[in-house]
Amino acid sequence: MSSENIFKENLFNHKSNKNLAQELNDANLAQESKQEINDEYQQMKLGKIKEGTVLDHIPPDLCFKIINLLNLEQHGRVISAATNLTSTKMGKKGMIKISGKILSEKEVNRIVVVAPNVTYSTITDYQAVKKVKLKVPQEIVGIVKCNNPNCITNVESVQTKFKIVSEEPLKIKCNYCERTTVKEEIKLLM
Ligand SMILES: [Zn+2]
Repeated sequence: MSSENIFKENLFNHKSNKNLAQELNDANLAQESKQEINDEYQQMKLGKIKEGTVLDHIPPDLCFKIINLLNLEQHGRVISAATNLTSTKMGKKGMIKISGKILSEKEVNRIVVVAPNVTYSTITDYQAVKKVKLKVPQEIVGIVKCNNPNCITNVESVQTKFKIVSEEPLKIKCNYCERTTVKEEIKLLM
């Protein structure tokens, strides 16, 4: 029963305010559990994969960016993705399921610098065998381009290396020229 209907019914029955408050609270709790069932239903629509990778809790606006940075258009197996799914934790979120692919450490780190806090699961025989919330590593090596055109990493074939200045919001510092880069300025190397 909706909160509004309970309200009308209580007015009609002249119940005490205390009962009304309790019933409104029950209605809210029922609404929350309905939301959780709805979340599960939405996720089921993506279909289970037998083996591969599931990325969950992706900020909804970054779902397509992650598909691009993983070069998934080249992947010949089943990929399902959805964004703007309702999430009890995040409000809205994106989710990507990739059949037949386990991410390399480099690929995981490419995701982390763009979207920290993504949940990463490896699936074997339809079950999640490893489920981790991604975390920014202490050092980011060979993933991000230095924005300083004079930096040695842009002039000679030296692998880029950044240290983390701040995790949230992400701010990193080049090991060679000490230029700092904030999240919005991060450019990934191919
Ligand atoms: Zn640099």
